[in-house]
Amino acid sequence: MYNCGHEATVEIDQIALPPDEMPTKWYNIVPDIPGGLPPPKEPDDGESRMASLQKRLVAECLKQEGSTESWIDIPEGIRELYVHAGRPRPLYRARRLEQRLGLTKARIYYKREDLSPTGSHKVNTAIAQAYYAANEGKKTLVTETGAGQWGTALSYAASLLGLKTVVFWVRAVYDWKAERRTLMQLYGAKVYASPSGETAFGRKLLAEDPRHPGSLGIAVSEGLEYTDLGPDRVYCLGSVLNHVLIHQSIIGLESIKQFELVGDSPDLVVGCLGGGSNFGGVALPFMGEVLRGKRECRFLAAQSESAPNLVKGEYRYDFGDTAGHTPLLMMYTLGHETSMKPIKSDGLRYHAAAPIISALRNKGYVDAVAYPNDEVAVFEAAKMFLETEGWLVAGESAHAVRAAIDQAKEAESNREEKCILANISGHGFLDLDAYREKIKLE
Ligand SMILES: *Cc1c(COP(=O)(O)O)cnc(C)c1O
Repeated sequence: MYNCGHEATVEIDQIALPPDEMPTKWYNIVPDIPGGLPPPKEPDDGESRMASLQKRLVAECLKQEGSTESWIDIPEGIRELYVHAGRPRPLYRARRLEQRLGLTKARIYYKREDLSPTGSHKVNTAIAQAYYAANEGKKTLVTETGAGQWGTALSYAASLLGLKTVVFWVRAVYDWKAERRTLMQLYGAKVYASPSGETAFGRKLLAEDPRHPGSLGIAVSEGLEYTDLGPDRVYCLGSVLNHVLIHQSIIGLESIKQFELVGDSPDLVVGCLGGGSNFGGVALPFMGEVLRGKRECRFLAAQSESAPNLVKGEYRYDFGDTAGHTPLLMMYTLGHETSMKPIKSDGLRYHAAAPIISALRNKGYVDAVAYPNDEVAVFEAAKMFLETEGWLVAGESAHAVRAAIDQAKEAESNREEKCILANISGHGFLDLDAYREKIKLE
């Protein structure tokens, strides 16, 4: 029940938070991690990776990367842009889905990051990074993109702040995802198929093979070289790093307030996990309260068997990127050079999980499950979600929906009370080809 300001209270399944209730600080879990976070390391050979990050990344983001403060002020300018972009985002109770599943004991809620302007949670960090870059006098944001969500989010954020965006996009995907490329271009981004003619490295590869399909590692290398070629350019990263997870904490911080509004509280928080930014965003504010003894709750990361870094990875130092440009980070990793089977939920194909998530997994605070990479089970869950709740979720988010449904059914069959929160990291309007492939339509 939810008192909506009228005399009577009615059953309302959208739990809104007014803009003036939006959190004013992000949460950084690093100082609360039991045993601390293992520090990044320099590899034995090559240039200093820390020094090269220092000259290429946004200075404020680097500062946050090493921060040991639990709470970091969200500048007013970023709060304004968050509200402009539709924050706070609603939390929903999945009543129709619960009915379909015949649940009497288990309850399911979901957080609507799919309502962002570009259709994913990545906007939360893109806005922050673009804002800080503009403040630091930068003119151009440079990045690589795999699935395309990050490039789109950054292009959008840059357009809000009057900055340019240059995206290096693996040629094979560039050709395949024309819609997403168009969206980036509409926001004013310059999108290059990588390898490109824009960098010496790209030109060398093209000379060897004019139809080179590219790879994420090549796109990163080109992006870094391109950044070095101009003084007003910075390189931006969309997942894995501490500052990205800090920015994403807005998701869980809002959710905590929304659960308070309805007098409920989750026993399990679920999110899909590639690099860990949306999972971290929704889970870590709740986990901080668990670590401080204020709450009991479990956390479940939903992965693809194509990239089961938390399920099958080793906990060791590895590069954060395919090309080995980052410092070595302590992570659950499949190896930065491993090849992963292509899947439609491309955003989950990442070789390692964020150092923060990995450290917490290592201490037993994070459970993980991996779904088959034919993706049929996850898209079927997404279809049931669409039929009951009405929203079309991204393939990545479908993994979280599958996990929430499975957990609710299990609790129900054990006659166990259970409140589940699932994060919907993105919408599926640009994933309809995947739905068509995975679901038999009448
Ligand atoms: C990028 C992306 C993911 C995976 O990245 P994380 O950093 O693990 O969150 C998941 N869902 C959507 C919609 C994405 O765009």
